Amino acid sequence: MNYNNVAIKQSNNRTMKQLNKMIPFEQAYGIVMESYRTLGLERIDFINTLGRVLAENVVSDMEIPPFTKSAADGFACREQDIKDTLDVIETIAAGRKPEKKIGKNQCARIMTGAMIPEGADCVLMVEDTKEISENKIQYEKESTDINICKKGEDIHEGDIVLEIGTIIKPQHIAILASVGNTSPLVSRRPMVGIISTGDEIVEPYVKPGISQIRNSNSYQLIAQVNRVGAIPNYHGIAEDSEEKTYRIVMNALEENDIVLLTGGVSMGDFDFVADILKKAKIDILFNRVAVQPGKPTTFGVHEKALCFGLPGNPVASFVQFELMVKPLIYKMMGADYEPVNIKMPMGTDYTRTKSVRESLLPVRLMENGTVMPVEYNGSAHIHALYEADGLIKIAVGETKISKGEIVNVRQI
Ligand code: AMP
Ligand code: MG
Repeated sequence: MNYNNVAIKQSNNRTMKQLNKMIPFEQAYGIVMESYRTLGLERIDFINTLGRVLAENVVSDMEIPPFTKSAADGFACREQDIKDTLDVIETIAAGRKPEKKIGKNQCARIMTGAMIPEGADCVLMVEDTKEISENKIQYEKESTDINICKKGEDIHEGDIVLEIGTIIKPQHIAILASVGNTSPLVSRRPMVGIISTGDEIVEPYVKPGISQIRNSNSYQLIAQVNRVGAIPNYHGIAEDSEEKTYRIVMNALEENDIVLLTGGVSMGDFDFVADILKKAKIDILFNRVAVQPGKPTTFGVHEKALCFGLPGNPVASFVQFELMVKPLIYKMMGADYEPVNIKMPMGTDYTRTKSVRESLLPVRLMENGTVMPVEYNGSAHIHALYEADGLIKIAVGETKISKGEIVNVRQI
């Protein structure tokens, strides 16, 4: 792993008091993104590149289409002859080379994707023709489209077809296949360690006892990590004991490029994650962010891995992963992640009382083209996200969004 030392240099004697100062989200985001580390490159089978980030420009090794071909099933002929009765002199199937040249009042029966014979400059669609007698046809319309795809009209040999930094989607895999790049160069994927903390947390297959809840964060994070093409590495639940949590953290730092802890970052008596991170020689760069949900988000750097202490509340954990961890993972893989934002009008008035923090409100896109906040009872309300399609940002100092106002919806 390569180090980008900007963050490490900023370190030194930050006191807990300094750290507990809430910093603006933009500042926290900047610190995280500056701390990225690169992971090296590898060539992999193109079939397995979904979600990976290209580390080279992909260039076409040929003209596409590679030959001039028919875009329809029909008859290839000369446009100047379309009013006359035409003699069918040959049938050209896709994948076969035409044998005859088309002359005056001649045509070849041709299939979509087959090579256009010499002499022909258009293809009459079969449904617009009538068979007059054996091997004689008549076109029934006044004029015709050309219905021909010219050699090289999509891509020329040597053209860049995919750019470095592209996050590969299925349609990009089609392009890799078309240009024969079967082992593209991509960035390695970060290994992301996931640790949940809390004595009250039990695994999902256990029925929680009184005062216990099921661990949803770890599995949500595993899915979020998978979705961005990184590798999740689950380390289990750390009980609220400093000793055990410390051991799990040390192990996770060894095994991963990024470590995510959830819970234990608030101000409760057992919220000692920050202390453990310090003991593990993680240089904590911030501890409180002016964002809602997710104020207690913690971030630090270690020589082995970057480390996030995410809030225990599942909605806050989800949102902070989206806002900070996801762009960082993409950056480490060589891509500049830009969330998809759409502008839509609010479907209702929205007000909030406090405005010292930037807020990300889960919203739903309605069929009538408006945005509605989902029912949301604070950041532990896991069901709030189930209906949400996106998040809207409410700036520091802003307390009201009026019905009809255009808002930016960040898709989740
Ligand atoms: P904490 O940050 O540890 O104070 O946790 C804040 C809230 O989130 C508490 O209500 C916890 O029970 C809850 N919580 C913490 N960890 C998890 C988890 N892994 N899955 C679901 N909820 C959690
Ligand atoms: Mg806890």
